[in-house]
Amino acid sequence: MRADLIQLSYVAAAVLFILGLKGMSSPRTARRGIVWAGVGMLVAVIATFFEPDMTNYLLMVVAVAIGGSVAYVAARRVAMTDMPQMVAIYNGMGGGAAALIAANEFLRSTTMTPSFAILGVIGALIGSISFSGSMIAFAKLQGIIKKSFLFPGQNVLNILVLAAAIVLGVFVTLQHTGHLGGPVGPTLGLFFALALLYGVLMTLPIGGADMPVVISLYNAFTGLAVGLEGYVLGNAALIIAGIVVGSAGTLLTQLMAKAMNRSIANVLFAGFGAHGGQELAEGPEGSMKEAAPDDAAITMAFGQKVIIVPGYGMAVAQAQHKVWELAKLLQEKGVQVKFAIHPVAGRMPGHMNVLLAEAGVPYDMIYDLDEINGDFPTADAALVIGANDVVNPAARDDPGSPIYGMPILDVDKAQNVIVVKRGRGAGFAGIENKLFYGDNTRMVYGDAQDVVSKLIAGVKKV
Ligand code: NDP
Repeated sequence: MRADLIQLSYVAAAVLFILGLKGMSSPRTARRGIVWAGVGMLVAVIATFFEPDMTNYLLMVVAVAIGGSVAYVAARRVAMTDMPQMVAIYNGMGGGAAALIAANEFLRSTTMTPSFAILGVIGALIGSISFSGSMIAFAKLQGIIKKSFLFPGQNVLNILVLAAAIVLGVFVTLQHTGHLGGPVGPTLGLFFALALLYGVLMTLPIGGADMPVVISLYNAFTGLAVGLEGYVLGNAALIIAGIVVGSAGTLLTQLMAKAMNRSIANVLFAGFGAHGGQELAEGPEGSMKEAAPDDAAITMAFGQKVIIVPGYGMAVAQAQHKVWELAKLLQEKGVQVKFAIHPVAGRMPGHMNVLLAEAGVPYDMIYDLDEINGDFPTADAALVIGANDVVNPAARDDPGSPIYGMPILDVDKAQNVIVVKRGRGAGFAGIENKLFYGDNTRMVYGDAQDVVSKLIAGVKKV
């Protein structure tokens, strides 16, 4: 009876996870989705306390208290722009937890059926890679690791380390299925060490604009590892949650790779340039032409169509409310206003959508890259607010560019381009942007919030 109730609670938790994920598929229901998923997790944690062979209640309570309070404080404090790091760390923790479950199972039971041992080893391998890889991704995004490590023969070394980890994983399996003798500890220890090392080696060379794809891939890895360890533990909630996270992560990885026009293999094995944010010493030919906010305001107010392109800088400046105020004002002047969102604008998937939704911009004014690109040639003005990489024509025109092939918003095709940024700062990929030197481009320098306030004042004067 008790066992049935526990299993029932796990299934209820799994259903809540699925409902939660469904809710997260639209900005309108995302908040509710997160609550559903959170309640599911609570149900699963409480049910675990009633498992018959649980004894360490004090340890469990202490662990939940430490984990819960650290996560609560961190989540409240984290800036929206630092969200990818936070996701990376939480992903990694999930993978690490799955690996620890496997380690515990392998240490406490010496004999297993082949399916348990094999799936346990695979889960441990994937979970460990996800853990150490995510920690490196965190360190890179946080600016703790500033370089991308590239050296000749890197891929060969990585493959050798992975192969060695797999061989040790086979040994672990053979030991636990009674086909091989010897002490379990050293084999297991070496297996985990190599799996963790592989995660580090695999992530170190990856940089630039590829980081979101990698984080999403580790998300998928963690889901898979959790699902596999759920099988080992016979826990329905873990299996279902793992499958849900694994498949959602896989889909997101594919979507993001597609959005950047890169294959996942290319992201993992091609490794390019360290990410920037730095000031660039030299620019392309020509000069950047500055405009006063009032002049930019006139260009927009007398136009028929204005497309607003928000980027990371808008998020940093928290200028979304002002941007919406400007858009409404332009509409009142009879200008058609559209928002164009690039899939990797900002620092996390959906970053710009969340900010614009928070400011109250209606969804029918927001367009994806594919929907809006045909509109730029007929736009009187494209207003680029703190975006850089996602509007860099080098991705289209310069085969030597690290971001070559990534689809971009074709803002350079608009009649006039107005770029709001503080100075010569590079974007995330750390590369120069010819758009800023274009004949039809005018730079309005300053913090996005401040400049947009001036643009509003300028439009009001017209
Ligand atoms: P970028 O990071 O390319 O550029 C942002 C620009 O904003 C900078 O050039 C900076 O120039 C300017 N800026 C910064 N602060 C302010 C401010 N307060 N006011 C005005 N401008 C400001 O942004 P994009 O959105 O164009 O591109 C996103 C990049 O991030 C892509 O390379 C993407 O791959 C990557 N990425 C995306 C993730 C995602 O999931 N969306 C996750 C992680 C990375 P200046 O210093 O001169 O002001």
